[in-house]
Amino acid sequence: MLGNAAIAKTGGAKVPMVYISSMVLEEIKHRVQQLSDAAEKRLWKLTKASIMSGGTKAPEEVVKARERACETSQGGKPCQYNGMVEPIREGGAVKLPGCTQCGCPFETKRQLLTLGTVKVKCPLGLWDFENQNL
Ligand code: SF4
Repeated sequence: MLGNAAIAKTGGAKVPMVYISSMVLEEIKHRVQQLSDAAEKRLWKLTKASIMSGGTKAPEEVVKARERACETSQGGKPCQYNGMVEPIREGGAVKLPGCTQCGCPFETKRQLLTLGTVKVKCPLGLWDFENQNL
């Protein structure tokens, strides 16, 4: 049971009112949030599949070289832009390691040579397939 039902009199019309306790309201909010998080994760899966299907896959050695650049470009330390990104929405459920300069997750960014007609590259030019074969 959600709460107590009552009939409010407004201008002669009888309108049913439902009182929801704050605990029940919190539970509803929690469940809606869970559904929203699950939907967001599913949306990312579909988006990722769409991105990957629209690109040219990079060879494994290129993926590894890009990974080295992102992880060790600051004198053996990770690049300053190597962090967490939220590809669906800020403050959302999907948080992934990625490039905070461009906002792309590594799981798609490093894997592709091109996306449609666009060449996938590091925004700082630390790896660029066109110029450095990475
Ligand atoms: S793609 Fe470039 S800017 Fe982004 S984290 Fe990697 S090295 Fe840094």
